[in-house]
Amino acid sequence: MGLNEAIYPEPDYYEVSGPYNRLAVALGKFGNWGNAFGTAALNGEATIACTPVRDESCGAKCPYRYDCKADGRVRFFYDSLSISLPKWTDYDKAKPEHKKAWDAMIKALTAHEHGHIDIYKEFEEEVTISAFTSDCDGEKAIEAANVAWNKKTEDMLNKKETENVRRHDAYDEKTKHGATQGVDLPQI
Ligand SMILES: [Zn+2]
Repeated sequence: MGLNEAIYPEPDYYEVSGPYNRLAVALGKFGNWGNAFGTAALNGEATIACTPVRDESCGAKCPYRYDCKADGRVRFFYDSLSISLPKWTDYDKAKPEHKKAWDAMIKALTAHEHGHIDIYKEFEEEVTISAFTSDCDGEKAIEAANVAWNKKTEDMLNKKETENVRRHDAYDEKTKHGATQGVDLPQI
């Protein structure tokens, strides 16, 4: 993990308080001490080209159909990536060995949450999508091509999100939410 330090957001903190050993038990029960969150977005546009094609089967009423192709590039990305970590409000008055254990836990937890950010970042890419539609009326054909384009990008967003959730779950399963990466507050 750790593609590039610059991609990691500054953490937000939620406050926890109390004596070290009691806090260690409380957080141990909670199990999932940090959090990483990303909002998915798409950015892209299509150019829509329609070609009138003679349609013999329509007769005089509708001599043409319009073959429309929506071509565009879409970038899938996450904006507002964030991570949250616990902040121990009694840290300053804690014993040195408790501070040391807390610091080690925060370091490991930060690395774990950065792993989640890496997973979000893996999904950022540029994709080309084509949509194809035909209609007797040129205006309607353009409209239909637009609808097809929007539907494709929406499907892509949903598919990406599903796969993204699966990867985060697998990462948490594998690391036990960071436990295997050293996220621990032992009784001292
Ligand atoms: Zn996790």
